[in-house]
Amino acid sequence: MDSILLVSHVDPDGALPRAALEALAAARTLGAPVTAALFGHSVGKAAAALAGTGVAKVLVVEDPALEAARYSTDAAAAAALAKASGASLVLAPATSRMTRVMAGVAQRLGGRIDTHVTQLVDEGGPTAVRWYYRQRIEAKLRRKERPWVLLVDPGATEALKPAGGAAPPVEKVALALPAPRTQVTGVRSPSSGEQTIRPDAKVLFVAGAGWTKKQQDGKPHPEEAEALILAFLRGSGASLGSSKSLVDQAGEGQKVFEFMTHLNQVGQTGSTPRHAKGLATCCHGEEPHVVGWRFIRERRAVNLDASCGWARGKADVLYVADAFAVMTKVNALLAAKK
Ligand SMILES: Cc1cc2nc3c(=O)[nH]c(=O)nc-3n(C[C@H](O)[C@H](O)[C@H](O)COP(=O)(O)OP(=O)(O)OC[C@H]3O[C@@H](n4cnc5c(N)ncnc54)[C@H](O)[C@@H]3O)c2cc1C
Repeated sequence: MDSILLVSHVDPDGALPRAALEALAAARTLGAPVTAALFGHSVGKAAAALAGTGVAKVLVVEDPALEAARYSTDAAAAAALAKASGASLVLAPATSRMTRVMAGVAQRLGGRIDTHVTQLVDEGGPTAVRWYYRQRIEAKLRRKERPWVLLVDPGATEALKPAGGAAPPVEKVALALPAPRTQVTGVRSPSSGEQTIRPDAKVLFVAGAGWTKKQQDGKPHPEEAEALILAFLRGSGASLGSSKSLVDQAGEGQKVFEFMTHLNQVGQTGSTPRHAKGLATCCHGEEPHVVGWRFIRERRAVNLDASCGWARGKADVLYVADAFAVMTKVNALLAAKK
């Protein structure tokens, strides 16, 4: 039977990333005992948060140099922890920090890596499930090579709820970290303005190119559109998605919203976010866009066109209405609730 290690960094505030508890839930489905491994500048809080999760013990590397994400130090810590555990299956949450180093860690361990794992199942041995071709094909993978490193996508599994009680025993792993050549001087957000991508939000709000098109009075109203979208995002806490047509407008010299970047694009050449609900506005609902809605469970759309793509089996509910009017009303209702 394989021995399983879950390895993760801790967040800058010392907390255990939620994605680590999701990866742990995925690991537990394999039935084998799981050892946890944490690295960071201070790991006590995260190790204590593993009480009542069924992990046998927690291996730790603690060092001030591990406060910030840095390839050389993160990779050295993760590799040392994996080696110390002797595990044949090494799971990591696919946070940006772990994603950056785990391929290199697999190489240092002489192992193999698979990424974007959404589920683990035991089918006569550990089997990883992942999607290919923009979430159109689901595949099951097994490997003979060990150690097998697996990066588990966040948002695919319910996070394990720690039952509390006695914290698992902690074992320090001694490691002389390589002298860092990179100094981290600060963090800069990719978006120039407001942070609009919120992976943990319940609702995905998609804005399409219709927001910048000529309206019934023959004129476009981009400033009004911008104010309506921002007011909804602030009032609801929703995450902002976009169609390709809207984000591409910046390259064509047209008005595009300050807070919108290509990172917001959902679809075949964009992202495939995971949210419980989605609301598309002024977006036609064409297949290359809607393919990015694979993991949105309840879908609604507002469009003036009763024959738009959403009407053709792509949304649960289509409101044939003017999104300017609808969002004005929705924002007023949200404001009244506060
Ligand atoms: C290879 C390839 C990859 C692609 N990848 C992606 C991708 O990743 N993501 C993506 O989004 N697209 C992608 N596309 C483009 C995609 O096919 C569509 O062109 C794009 O999604 C259209 O964007 P839209 O619906 O915002 O704009 P439009 O097609 O211009 O639709 C605007 C909509 O707004 C509605 N509207 C206007 N005013 C109002 C109003 N006041 N109230 C309500 N509704 C209103 C209109 O009725 C219309 O339906 C890809 C295309 C190709 C060929």
